[in-house]
Amino acid sequence: MPVPPSDGAQRAEALATWDRARAVVPRGVSSGHRVGWQQVFVRSSGAYVWDDKDRRYVDFLNAWGPIVLGHCDDRINRAAFEAASTCDLTGVGPQPGEAQLAETICEVMPSAEKVVFCTSGTDATMHAVHLARAATGRLKVLKFHGTYHGWNDHVAVGSSRKDLTPGTPLNTPNGGGLHPAVVDDVVVVEWNDEAGLRAAFDQFGDQLAAAFAEGYVHSFGCVPAAPGFLELLRELCTRNGVVMVMDEVKTGFRAAIGGYQSIHGVVPDLTAFGKAVANGYSLAGLAGIDDLMGHLGAYSKSEATVDGTYNASPYALGAANKTLEIMRTEDVFGTLYARGDQLRKGIQKSIDSLGVPATVTGLGSEWCVYFRSEPPVNFRQAMESDADMYAKYHSALLAQGVLEPAFPTGDRRLNAATTEADIDFALECVHNALTAAIS
Ligand code: PLP
Repeated sequence: MPVPPSDGAQRAEALATWDRARAVVPRGVSSGHRVGWQQVFVRSSGAYVWDDKDRRYVDFLNAWGPIVLGHCDDRINRAAFEAASTCDLTGVGPQPGEAQLAETICEVMPSAEKVVFCTSGTDATMHAVHLARAATGRLKVLKFHGTYHGWNDHVAVGSSRKDLTPGTPLNTPNGGGLHPAVVDDVVVVEWNDEAGLRAAFDQFGDQLAAAFAEGYVHSFGCVPAAPGFLELLRELCTRNGVVMVMDEVKTGFRAAIGGYQSIHGVVPDLTAFGKAVANGYSLAGLAGIDDLMGHLGAYSKSEATVDGTYNASPYALGAANKTLEIMRTEDVFGTLYARGDQLRKGIQKSIDSLGVPATVTGLGSEWCVYFRSEPPVNFRQAMESDADMYAKYHSALLAQGVLEPAFPTGDRRLNAATTEADIDFALECVHNALTAAIS
């Protein structure tokens, strides 16, 4: 659990803010991972967020992914404002900036021949399921254990921590209220389990509409695919007529402008993206090969539909077009990778010098510290990270002014406004936090 602010008056004020919110908002927040924090953040800029007592934190959470250039980036806010104040939502015809953004994505993302926009990653993965079903005439969906793809019933299966209790089937719905019948149509395989993947395709290959994978798993930290694993998935999908969906909601426009697929080389049929594409404005989408995207129609029984009042809203398009323009003209990824490498190397050095049973993994601007000696290769192993050590580590970081996810398998990330000096500061804090974790 995150520690409360140390200052008594601040803590009382933060709790009062929570109480006020709880009186009118269930849990006091509108998204699950915001529960449990005592801090209340009121200001953000560049690499930092400030709490209501003006205490500054280096932000390694970055809103769980979207903030990639930096907080409250003037260039992005101005572009969004300009778009919204020139012609806001009309609900008629192509929206200003829509074709421009789709053209850019088609240029940079290997799987993108056509692109359609929606508002969240949850929307994007839902539309991917519908589209794959419309295109194949099949119902089942394959996904990997522990990976999170949003809250549609057909993908919100097999990522709950309850799944780890011995005897619990892998395809358990992630929460209450999800339709229990969908589990029959969801095939869940362990990440990096080649034999399990082959067996699943042997059994269900001709019934699968889609197979979902994060190319580089961030749902339980930072766990890459084993060599050949994505290639195998690609091959099995092609051989069985299954739509391969890469969920790049976290990796898109963060691992690289063209997504993780542009680094790895395996090209999916469909790509779900969101988060970093608009540096914090709510925009997401689905990119794919022409053949499949052609199954998006208007209200036909055999075609899938992507509809939404706020889809491709001009202010979000303005923000996204500007974000991608900056990524194409400035060395954003050079900075993200340099800072990420500096950080990972420094963390590893502290782990080694202190003899902590821990390991750091990650790519580019993302990383995860697991309190287990070996890097995990799947969800179960990631969940073996020592929760007590992590709690001490996290509390110590927070107390020193470094904001990170509050659970051991949370991936953390920096934004491009983070300086070398910020990393030096963070590494000192990490050293102290690792010391606290083993004390
Ligand atoms: N897919 C992945 C890999 C995610 O990490 C998330 C959110 O964290 C989603 C889908 C859902 O995206 P959203 O929160 O925008 O609905």
